[in-house]
Amino acid sequence: MKILNYINGEFLAPIADRWIDNYDPSKGEVYGQIPNSEKEDVEKAYKAAKEAFPTWSNTTLDERSKILSKIAQLISEKLEDLAVVESRDNGKPLKLAKAVDIPRASSNFQFFANAITQFAAEAHESVGLDAMNFTLRQPIGVVGCISPWNLPLYLFSWKIAPALAAGNCVVAKPSEVTPMTAYLLGEICNEAGLPKGVLNIVHGLGTTTGQAIVEHPNIKAISFTGGTKTGAHIASVAAPMFKKLSLELGGKNPNIIFADCDYENMLRTTVRSSFANQGQICLCGSRIFVEQSIYEQFKTDFIAAVSKLKVGNPFDADTNVGALVSKPHLEKVRSYIENAEAYGGTVLCGGKEVTVEGSENGYYLQPTVIEVKDNSCQLNQEEIFGPIVTIMPFVTEEEVLAMANDVSYGLSATLWTSNLNRTMRMSKQIQAGIVWVNTWLLRDLRTPFGGVKNSGVGREGGFEALRFFTEPKNICIKY
Ligand code: NAD
Repeated sequence: MKILNYINGEFLAPIADRWIDNYDPSKGEVYGQIPNSEKEDVEKAYKAAKEAFPTWSNTTLDERSKILSKIAQLISEKLEDLAVVESRDNGKPLKLAKAVDIPRASSNFQFFANAITQFAAEAHESVGLDAMNFTLRQPIGVVGCISPWNLPLYLFSWKIAPALAAGNCVVAKPSEVTPMTAYLLGEICNEAGLPKGVLNIVHGLGTTTGQAIVEHPNIKAISFTGGTKTGAHIASVAAPMFKKLSLELGGKNPNIIFADCDYENMLRTTVRSSFANQGQICLCGSRIFVEQSIYEQFKTDFIAAVSKLKVGNPFDADTNVGALVSKPHLEKVRSYIENAEAYGGTVLCGGKEVTVEGSENGYYLQPTVIEVKDNSCQLNQEEIFGPIVTIMPFVTEEEVLAMANDVSYGLSATLWTSNLNRTMRMSKQIQAGIVWVNTWLLRDLRTPFGGVKNSGVGREGGFEALRFFTEPKNICIKY
């Protein structure tokens, strides 16, 4: 099956007729082709967006909100079909796509459909100077949205929805590894009555299509989610052009477990926060630190629970861990297991590739637990982004806090404790954009989302996203 670019409301082949293979990771087979769009395609998308902008930016909030709500509703109505497509394209268990990816994509559109109706201008009275200031929040114009492969439609919509709600027109690129649901989003937008040119979706490689978006002189803001290295490259191109930049990058998140936690809840959630989506969630807690007094108990129980996880075809109802997203990614993740000893760890469970009956060439790997002795080892310092976690004991709060922060990333952290004072002390000192205490992945879409250090710049979510996708303009009136 060949998918097409969505430009000006139409589905178009790439101008240069260049294509990339699309793989089904559960089978390790090519099952379609996608455009490898070049500068000319991005230019065409840009022109459509530019043309649509004067009307879209002046469309009433009520009307914009209705169209975004309609997109949300259509995603919900098509949940089953979209989940099947997402699962096939990405390798994730179908039940995860049904429970998380697609419902949250719909929620993103619904949330920003509502949020834009509550987004207000600010006013500042210059007391004693007889002047009044008010600050408009105007849409930027044409903006670029670039997203990764791990939560394809979910993260794509997390950018597109606020950009459109704020009145911008968009040139967007999903990951070339998982383009299918983004393609279907084009059809949904047409069905929802989104005017042509308001959203344009160009497919292709990062180095061709993505680069063309970032380099485009008139695409004035870039919202990017992906790897830290790619983020640094994008910043080096976009910063000298004075573009607005939002960068959501990698993570190496600590999961800190104290002996006074609710043990059963912690254990259940830690299995999930380690291996959900094959460990391919930027928020997964990949470095587990356990208080010494319960370390041996945790090790035994955790390994027992992880060993029960069923690795299998994403479409089987009892599958917990599906296929990794691609062969190169499988090889990258496997190399950490093969070099575990050299990288400072001992494999406690998992670590082997899995052959799934009927899908012998799929990219399956056992969930893997590695014990490390020191947080400075490569296994604890580098983002692996697969079904691998490390565990190690700690004795004091100060020691674990230092280890949690001793990493170049700072996206999220999880803390398990029933001690309120410790919760407050540690939450304040952990270097991360998001701290979960006694839970994981609980999201309230109004809250700021993003990381510190090498995990990114800027915040998404709620009004933060609407602020990013608008330019403030202060108007001062003397009376
Ligand atoms: P990636 O950086 O390889 O690619 C992300 C996107 O950028 C893709 O669409 C890709 O085509 C594009 N791209 C690549 N090179 C580009 C260039 N030169 N110019 C413009 N675009 C370019 O990342 P990935 O492998 O798709 O995703 C995994 C990474 O994403 C992990 O590091 C993960 O932690 C991170 N991630 C972060 C968050 C977050 O919210 N912080 C969420 C999910 C994933």
